[in-house]
Amino acid sequence: MSEAYDVIVIGSGAGGGAAAWALATKGVSVLLLEAGPSYDPFTDYLLDRPDWETKHFPEKVPSKGRQTVAPLQTFERKWQHLRSWDRVSGRHNPGNRRANWGYSHVVGLGGSTLHFTGEAHRMHPEAMLMHSRFGVAADWPMDYAALEPLYLETEKLIGVAGPAEDPMRPRSAPFPLPAHPLSYGSQKIAQGCRKLGLNFVANARAALSQPYDGRPACNYCGHCTRGCPRTDKGSVDVTFIPKAAATGKCTIRTEATVLRVEAGPNDRVSGVLYIDATGKRHNVKGRAVVVACGAVETPRLLLASANTHATEGLSNESGQVGKHFMETLYWVSSGLHNDPLGSHRGLPSDGICWDYNAPDAIPDIVGGCRFSAAVHESDVAGPLAYATRVVKDWGRQHKQAMRNQFGRALSIGGIGESLPNPKSYIDLDPDKRDKNGTPLARIHSYLDDTELQRLSFMAKTSREILKASGAGDIFEEYGAYDGFQSTHVFGTCRMGTDQDDSVVDPYGRSHRWRNLFVADASVFPSSGGGESPALTIEALAIRSGRHLADLAMRNEL
Ligand SMILES: Cc1cc2nc3c(=O)[nH]c(=O)nc-3n(C[C@H](O)[C@H](O)[C@H](O)COP(=O)(O)OP(=O)(O)OC[C@H]3O[C@@H](n4cnc5c(N)ncnc54)[C@H](O)[C@@H]3O)c2cc1C
Ligand code: SF4
Repeated sequence: MSEAYDVIVIGSGAGGGAAAWALATKGVSVLLLEAGPSYDPFTDYLLDRPDWETKHFPEKVPSKGRQTVAPLQTFERKWQHLRSWDRVSGRHNPGNRRANWGYSHVVGLGGSTLHFTGEAHRMHPEAMLMHSRFGVAADWPMDYAALEPLYLETEKLIGVAGPAEDPMRPRSAPFPLPAHPLSYGSQKIAQGCRKLGLNFVANARAALSQPYDGRPACNYCGHCTRGCPRTDKGSVDVTFIPKAAATGKCTIRTEATVLRVEAGPNDRVSGVLYIDATGKRHNVKGRAVVVACGAVETPRLLLASANTHATEGLSNESGQVGKHFMETLYWVSSGLHNDPLGSHRGLPSDGICWDYNAPDAIPDIVGGCRFSAAVHESDVAGPLAYATRVVKDWGRQHKQAMRNQFGRALSIGGIGESLPNPKSYIDLDPDKRDKNGTPLARIHSYLDDTELQRLSFMAKTSREILKASGAGDIFEEYGAYDGFQSTHVFGTCRMGTDQDDSVVDPYGRSHRWRNLFVADASVFPSSGGGESPALTIEALAIRSGRHLADLAMRNEL
């Protein structure tokens, strides 16, 4: 006899965690299956140890996924100004083509939010209309107004601190918490932006500016991406998942890797096959299945679930699973300021410039971008980073330079719209499999001229902001041109109303397999102009989960 639940949710990141919570609070029985281990914020993160800087996010043995990346494009002379370098080691990629620097994610309870910075952004309303306004990507099948109440609910649930005014994104109520103060380094950037006629304002952050919902306020240790040891960062493991578990309706299993979703007759899925940490395989039945493995692993699982009922892979009737892959178009410039700023202190990404975020805001280039304070995200905030990336020389001279330069670094990070193109997609690697025999996801990534023009604008503007902020002595620059390295990935199971160019409907429900849902960043029709995606993923997953619960209760699945 196999176990049975109303709904099986696969993956516990931003999408899966929020969907499981939405379902469980509606009284639906949920099994949440997570391939990775759970993390204890009080013991697993390394920030209170002397060697904290030698390791980044602590990977536990089963907590790193594997993917392959198909050969990437070769470099062209005209984009030379986008090459990555630093003062100490020179070029980061000495080859003649883009390198694979990896899909940055976490396989663990809470998914990639364990590692995320915690920016909590709403989409720009115009960035949801890229096809009708600009003839690129696809329109979202709902507008900003439909998402607004869900955004507000999500912000309250995870605890978002943000500014009193947000002119680009209308709000029905203020942020639940007041904005964090800008650090001293970010105040210098704000001054520099003002000189250029730009606005640099407090960022919306899933980091508590006051005690909230039983969690303490942030202590500005500055290393959210290493895992927050205080639980004030609004990652899914300290927000949605404990709340889902508290309903008594959500069973959680970690180190449970789903090998396939079982496609059956009559366009229905019947459950999943998963393998546990001991290697034992389990069949579980579900009235519905929600796939939320992230925009790289969700298409992999759907394609790997092909059988006689779904010969091309699940929900891949139009060949759309894995297509429209959008990655992180990013640029970071770092320079040294003349004054000792103590720039290693403060909340990461505490300030942001949204002036170029609208899809038509960059002159002559479709698709927007944003610029934020990035000294912590570029990880120039500890002595090892200074010694290996900033300060040259050896011995006494090195020591003197370290004393003189530590705390003076400022970084500006730009993230821009990533438009889909036919050369960027996910498929199954025909040659490489994981230990369970499942083909690995293979990432195909290509940056076309429009993307590289946008990236050039981001590089130019980052340099201008640094210079105007008093940190024009640039010691390091890196970006997406030299290597595929994505923290934000989207689009591989697009939501829409047309079955021919989308995989799921506006509620994340498969067009053909009516008890199969997708609830993660795969469903995004466009990436936005640099908005960080987790808040939107969570808002959409709540919407999908509630819709699914309503269907289940009405016996309409
Ligand atoms: C360093 C870093 C910084 C970031 N900063 C921000 C930020 O500031 N703000 C923001 O909004 N976003 C940020 N992001 C991005 C954000 O974390 C992701 O967009 C978001 O977590 C994606 O949610 P998801 O549900 O699509 O996937 P994930 O959160 O990646 O969750 C997918 C889950 O599915 C599990 N899974 C995969 N395959 C299987 C399987 N076969 N069986 C069972 N489980 C499986 C994985 O283990 C994982 O837990 C950052 C990401 C990184 C890496
Ligand atoms: S800066 Fe704040 S939110 Fe980030 S890890 Fe430190 S305490 Fe947590």
